[in-house]
Amino acid sequence: MEGSGNFIEDIIDDELARGAVTEVATRFPPEPNGYLHIGHAKAICIDFGIAAKYGGRCNLRYDDTNPSKEDVEYVNSIKRDIEWLGFKWDAELYASDYFERMYDCAVSLIKKGLAYVCDYSAEEIRQSRGTLTSPGTDSPYRNRSVEENLTLFKQMREGKFADGEKTLRAKIDMSSPNINMRDPVIYRILRATHHRTGDKWCIYPMYDFAHPLEDAFEGITYSLCTLEFEDHRPLYDWVKVNCGFVPGPRQIEFARLNIKRTIMSKRYLKKLVDEGRVDGWSDPRMPTLSGMRERGYPPEAIRAFCAAAGVAKSNGETEVAMLEHFVRDSLNKSADRVMVVKDPIKLNIVNAAADEECLVENNPNADEVTYRSVTFGKELYIDRSDFAADPPPKYKRLVPGGTVRLKGAYIVKYVSHECDADGNVTEVSCEYIPDSKSGGVNAGMKVKGVIQWVNAKDSIDVTLNEYDYLLLDGDGDFNDRLTPDSKKVYSAKAEASLALAKPYDRFQFIRMGYYSAVGSYGEGRYEFNMVTGLKDSYGK
Ligand code: ATP
Ligand code: MG
Repeated sequence: MEGSGNFIEDIIDDELARGAVTEVATRFPPEPNGYLHIGHAKAICIDFGIAAKYGGRCNLRYDDTNPSKEDVEYVNSIKRDIEWLGFKWDAELYASDYFERMYDCAVSLIKKGLAYVCDYSAEEIRQSRGTLTSPGTDSPYRNRSVEENLTLFKQMREGKFADGEKTLRAKIDMSSPNINMRDPVIYRILRATHHRTGDKWCIYPMYDFAHPLEDAFEGITYSLCTLEFEDHRPLYDWVKVNCGFVPGPRQIEFARLNIKRTIMSKRYLKKLVDEGRVDGWSDPRMPTLSGMRERGYPPEAIRAFCAAAGVAKSNGETEVAMLEHFVRDSLNKSADRVMVVKDPIKLNIVNAAADEECLVENNPNADEVTYRSVTFGKELYIDRSDFAADPPPKYKRLVPGGTVRLKGAYIVKYVSHECDADGNVTEVSCEYIPDSKSGGVNAGMKVKGVIQWVNAKDSIDVTLNEYDYLLLDGDGDFNDRLTPDSKKVYSAKAEASLALAKPYDRFQFIRMGYYSAVGSYGEGRYEFNMVTGLKDSYGK
């Protein structure tokens, strides 16, 4: 038997051993009312991961029972994001395909005297619900006859009543200590065009009624969900048992993923999109999977992060640094190192003759080391911060009278520099030391540092988008915690090889950070999103 992985697997191991179940079937049940976020990635990793571990199946099931908020745009984005994350579902299913069967289950409950049509308004239902410390009171409609309930429920379906005029409620116990069991509404009247069933229905099942049925219809054995549904489990079981599904699926709850300085709520994320605070659901600042794809997060890094975050029974908050750690870890192995200069000043090489090809290593951490060529020449660019006319203590780059190595090329020695009227350095001149390339007789010369550079003649102009976290630290209202100016745009000079990059190619810009080519990269549009910095603060 496999070593126990987490508490859910312990439960499954035990049930399999006892013969209580003979197969494992799970589902990932998003409501198509927004884009998936990193919290969903955790649920996906658990749902699909458990099915895979036990050789079972995992369905993608859209929980589309609330037409007023749902849309095909979301349906499509969800599929794309799950595939991108690296998972394949066994069946693609829709709760709305079960509306007729759910209706039949509701009728069967009415026939058993376990559901009734109630004329109370939403407010009256709330009022009569009671509180945590006091029981609720029975609705005056609670004891309608089975025949009357059957007729009224049929009329609800036929559109005889206005939205909200009546509901169908489960007849359970108005004094149950669990408020969810106090005659919960299981059907409501709602006239909204559904993205799949159109205007066929004007009554829709509520989540607590629909979900156990969806699971049961599909033969799901483990209905894995987040902790906020724990108090709903008695109702889940009530629906399942009274609709004749025994033993039926078992609901098990795990902790939600929460990450500092961001928020995982589709409702809030939609608000940011609708108010134009971000550039849509796929904005690289968004904690959505499509935002992370634009940002350049590798899907395997997200999976590794979810695995490390683990399956817990109590909610907590995870540091963003942990997610970034896995992103960096993945990119450190896979991203080519290239040279970009963000704040360029001219570097003249006074003794350079013709242009000369230099071979630069692409990635020192790759399994197989490969090289590309960059052109060394008379006019280069280096970063303004890599030369100091009046260096501060411990400064390790180019200074008057000093030397520095140009990455992948020669050691250069200071000759002179020029400033503008304000004293800003405009250009620096150096001479290169012959035979100081790696492997040359002068390569061992002691230098203070190594800096990146590009050739003025063939470098390309690129745009860099750099991002801060969406929210400021703290725990006040999210609306008051939006980081101001969380997107900054820079122009930079990049080595010529980047003209050939493809959308979503990821690089380490030496000494700067990890960057990812935007989805529309190419044909003169040379734009990169910063993925993450080089410094790892996680586990410190
Ligand atoms: P939100 O609150 O962001 O709108 P939701 O729970 O309403 O999310 P659903 O589409 O209903 O979103 O969720 C699909 C599945 O993903 C559910 O099983 C839910 O429990 C799970 N899920 C949602 N958010 C998280 C999270 N932050 N961490 C782990 N699982 C999550
Ligand atoms: Mg939901």
